[in-house]
Amino acid sequence: MTNTKSLNETEKKVFEAIEKNDVILLKALLPNLENPDIMDENSMTPLQHAAYKGNKDIVQLLLDHGSDVNLCEHQHNYTALHFAGLSGNPAVCISLLLAGAKSQVTNSVGRTPCQMAAFVGNTQCADAINHFVPKEEVDYYLTHEPKLPTILADKFHLFIMQSSVHPVRVIFNLQKYIGLSEHLEEVKAVLQDMRDKEMKKGAEMNEVMAFKFHYLSCLVGEIIALKKKQEEGDGKKKTMDTVDLFTRNMLKPNKEKELEFMDKLLKEYIKEFPYRESILFRQMLTSLTNEASFSTLNVIKMTLNGNMSFLNNNQGCATCGEPDKNFVKKCSKCKSVIYCDKNCQRLHWHWHKKECDLLQNDTNSNTKTVPDASELSAELQKVLIDPGSKVE
Ligand SMILES: [Zn+2]
Ligand SMILES: [Zn+2]
Repeated sequence: MTNTKSLNETEKKVFEAIEKNDVILLKALLPNLENPDIMDENSMTPLQHAAYKGNKDIVQLLLDHGSDVNLCEHQHNYTALHFAGLSGNPAVCISLLLAGAKSQVTNSVGRTPCQMAAFVGNTQCADAINHFVPKEEVDYYLTHEPKLPTILADKFHLFIMQSSVHPVRVIFNLQKYIGLSEHLEEVKAVLQDMRDKEMKKGAEMNEVMAFKFHYLSCLVGEIIALKKKQEEGDGKKKTMDTVDLFTRNMLKPNKEKELEFMDKLLKEYIKEFPYRESILFRQMLTSLTNEASFSTLNVIKMTLNGNMSFLNNNQGCATCGEPDKNFVKKCSKCKSVIYCDKNCQRLHWHWHKKECDLLQNDTNSNTKTVPDASELSAELQKVLIDPGSKVE
């Protein structure tokens, strides 16, 4: 480790390359350093600077060259992971965590990297840190019962680190990472075992993680049961895509437009959590009883993500609950529901078509009682001419 006073020309250039996001220059410079953990005048290492800039390629390059991910001589005790949390890039947080960054270290004001990220509003970084699972915990199941097929190890790891909570999005991710055709029984068994192992970790036990594994195992179980029902049944449901059928069930509204089916099911999942003495279980029960205005989904979101960000973000995708993004699709008829993409809109249409006209009338009556055709927006005219194009 070199002190700032003795920074030579190469070392100065290393910091400059990071400042300019110049990966190529940095790649050329690094072999000339004896130790990549040099320090600038603020006792910050190149890795800490790169993490703060949120540059994933540079962070990975420095890690590959042996940078110490937990080295910290910064005067306010910020680690590389603290800086990554401030950067707003969740991928950088994951790279550091995979390299062994400790997530429970606190800076001089007593905050962990996750708390710093949440404090500055980088909820994606906070979620990434919160939901991180060391790869060894997954690899354990390659050689121990219940066994996980080797080909699934990486994908399963990604599946369990997701921060999505909405059942429809969780099942989208199940399909994306693991697929719905095989291995679901093994996946469910491993998740349940991970839940039980987590609760037996003693001082390091993380009840939130245990509940998350439980929650995911319940949803995987739901798909297993649904597939079985489809195989045994007949009629239209037998040939329907399982994800489509699952989504249709989940989004079924009652007369008050509440998602009664989903709410009941999620309550069941909470009740099935086998650790009823845990603080977390009792907290969830209290929230469900006292916070009548919160849906069960929101109680689970609060539990798993530890923040209330969803409250400002209520108008997520009407199908899978993903938060507002810049490029959302909107129902072009009623303009009152938004979606991630065409697929999410397609999946919602079964229920939405019944309320779309009503919502459309609501929107119109807010502006003019009898809208003149010439005053209708171009998009609306397009839809009236071509009712097939429901997506803007
Ligand atoms: Zn969606
Ligand atoms: Zn609509």
